[in-house]
Amino acid sequence: MEIYVARSAGFCYGVKRAINLAKKTLEKSKLKCFTLGPIIHNPSVVKELEDQGLKVVNKVSDIKKGTLIIRSHGISKEDKDYLDRKGEEIILVDATCPFVEKALDKLKILSKEGYEIFYLGDKNHPEVKGLLSYINNQAVVFERPDDIPCKKYKKVGLISQTTQKPELFKRSVEKLLPLCEELRVFNTICQTTTIRQKEARELAKKVDIMIVLGGKMSANTKKLAEVCKNELENTYHIETVKDLKKSWFRGVKKVGITAGASTPKEHIEEVIEFLENLGE
Ligand code: SF4
Repeated sequence: MEIYVARSAGFCYGVKRAINLAKKTLEKSKLKCFTLGPIIHNPSVVKELEDQGLKVVNKVSDIKKGTLIIRSHGISKEDKDYLDRKGEEIILVDATCPFVEKALDKLKILSKEGYEIFYLGDKNHPEVKGLLSYINNQAVVFERPDDIPCKKYKKVGLISQTTQKPELFKRSVEKLLPLCEELRVFNTICQTTTIRQKEARELAKKVDIMIVLGGKMSANTKKLAEVCKNELENTYHIETVKDLKKSWFRGVKKVGITAGASTPKEHIEEVIEFLENLGE
């Protein structure tokens, strides 16, 4: 059996940065360390950091004193204001991904300049909720171009969650263009996402089965699985090697593996080892 692994499978720049900052903070902080929600959408990585002393809380008011590591998705305005009011009682370590920061800058520009904002994304995702809080949630959030109401608009700003599919964004532009007097587009899909999806699509075209490895809650992993499934029905989204079934590989000659931005390389290696041992 031939095994192909997508070149950029695994941790992205923003996740690597967040994990490194968390590990360094845990090493040197004399105070208890917290994250608001899991630092990345990968349960085993979160567990590993919890074992090193990182505590996951669901709301900022659960932290009385300590160090809060802001995860790569960023933080909402309400939480930021609360933390500012707490002053030195809570020390902030900001691991917000620069691509998310950039999206926030663009969103603020559109809001300030009076554009009606259309935001391609999942309204329940922490990145989307966080960013929109800085513009009083004044945006139409949609997941598919078909969801954009067909009517005339004057001044529209289009923007995207960092992990969306570039094709969907392109189709959103095509849908809005004839409807608007003015359309301003900021492509805020992060480069990592674009490259990763392109590689996954190409790999899915040349193998018999695709394994997409990563947390079931991870937006970018779910998108990778969708991209692969569009090319190859025989695509499986798994969280860890334990989810693999030997029966999937009967008669298979070529296996493709890709992994979400929050999947450690050890998890990819475990899957490769499983596949290599299949023949024995
Ligand atoms: S997927 Fe992109 S935006 Fe999200 S953390 Fe990684 S590099 Fe940043």
